[in-house]
Amino acid sequence: MDINPQVASLTKSATLKITALTKQIKKQGKDVVNFAAGEPDFDTPDFIKKAAKEAIDQGFTKYTPSTGDLKLKEAIARRLERQGNPFSDKNNIVVTAGAKYAIFLALLSLASEGDEILIPLPYWVSYPEMVKLTPAKPKFIQLSQENNFKLTPELLEKSITPRTKVLLFNYPSNPTGATYTRQELLQIAQIVEKNNFYVLSDEIYEALVYDQREHVCLASLGKAVERIVTVSGLSKTFSMTGWRVGYLAANQKLVDAVSNICGHTTSCPCSISQAAAIAALENQEWESKVKVKFQERRDLLYSRLSQIKKIIPYNPEGTFYMFCDIRETGLNSLEFCSQLLDRELVSCIPASPFGQEGFVRVSFATSTEQINKGADRISTFMEKL
Ligand code: PMP
Ligand code: GLU
Repeated sequence: MDINPQVASLTKSATLKITALTKQIKKQGKDVVNFAAGEPDFDTPDFIKKAAKEAIDQGFTKYTPSTGDLKLKEAIARRLERQGNPFSDKNNIVVTAGAKYAIFLALLSLASEGDEILIPLPYWVSYPEMVKLTPAKPKFIQLSQENNFKLTPELLEKSITPRTKVLLFNYPSNPTGATYTRQELLQIAQIVEKNNFYVLSDEIYEALVYDQREHVCLASLGKAVERIVTVSGLSKTFSMTGWRVGYLAANQKLVDAVSNICGHTTSCPCSISQAAAIAALENQEWESKVKVKFQERRDLLYSRLSQIKKIIPYNPEGTFYMFCDIRETGLNSLEFCSQLLDRELVSCIPASPFGQEGFVRVSFATSTEQINKGADRISTFMEKL
C-alpha cells in the first residue's frame, strides 16, 4: 500500500462535498435551493475587498512572519481583549489559513500516543478526521436531545480518564446551533480546572448568537486559562470563506509549537488575505448588521419548518444551521437528503457524517426568498412521502 494508512483512513468532508455538488447543479442551470451551505450567501463586503486590492497595488505580496502580520495580530489581540480573553497579546496569537488549520495545528501539537481526545457528538465533520491524523484516539460523548444537545457537566465528568488530553468544544455548535450561557460555561471551565486536560474552544460562530444572547469566550472565565486554546476566524462573520484567515490564541509553549509547524509547512497565511482581514476586524458595525439578518432568516425558517408534519426543527441559539429531527419519515438522513435533492431540488446535509442518525442540517445562510421556496418544496416532499 502506497498511502500512509492514517491518511488512507480519512473520509471525504461531507459538508464540502455536498456544498460543491449543490454549486455544480446550480451551474447546470437547475433551480436548486441551497440549504447545505456552510458559508454566508452574500459577497465579501466591498470595504474588505478594497483593502485587498490596495495591498496588491502597494506590493504587500511577499512572505509575512509565519504566525501572521503584526498589524493583523494586533487587530486580533484587540478583539480578544474586548472579549476578555487573557491571551490578548500579539505573542499569544497565530494566524492560520482558516480556523480549520488552527484546530489541526493545535491538535497535532498536543496529541500524543495513548491520549484521548473528547469529542461531543453530534460533532462537526472534520474533528474525528483531524484526530485520525494524530497519534491520539477520539472518544465521543453522546449528547442528549433532552438537553438540546448540550455538553453537561455530568456527561463531561463521566468521560474524563487519566488519558484525556483535549476536549474539542464548539459553540455555538455546528451542526446543532446550541450555545452556552456564562453559567454553563463556568461549570465546564471548573471541571477543566480540576482535571489536567486542554480545551480547544472553537468559537468560529461567535458573532452569530440570537435573542439577545451574548457569546462568552471560555478563556475569559479565568479558569484553567493556560489550558484553553481559543480558535476563531473571519470566514463566517465576514463572508470570507475563500480568503482563508483563522487564528488561535493560546499559551506561549503551544504558540511556539504551532508556529514551528507553520514555518515548515505553510510559511505564512496569504499576505493579501491578511490585509483584507485587518480591514474586516477594524469594522465593528458589520457584525451587528449580519447578526440581525441571520436572526430574521432563522425566525422565518423556524416558523416555516415548524408547520410541516414529520419534521421537528430545533430553534438554534446561534450559527446559521437548524438541526431537524426527521425520524418520523422512516428515512435515514442520507436517504432523506438524496430524495429531497432528486425530487424537489433542495439540498441539505445529512447528520450521519456528524455522527448522529435521524437528523438533517438545514442552513439558513441564504435569502428569505430562497428560505420560503425551500420550505414550500420540503412541504411538498413530505406530503408525497
Ligand atoms: N469550525 C467549525 C465548527 C466550522 O463549521 C468551520 C467551517 N468551515 C470551521 C471551524 C473552519 O472554518 P474556516 O477554516 O473556514 O475558518
Ligand atoms: N464548516 C462549514 C460546514 O460545516 C463549511 C464546510 C467545511 O469546512 O466543512 O458546512
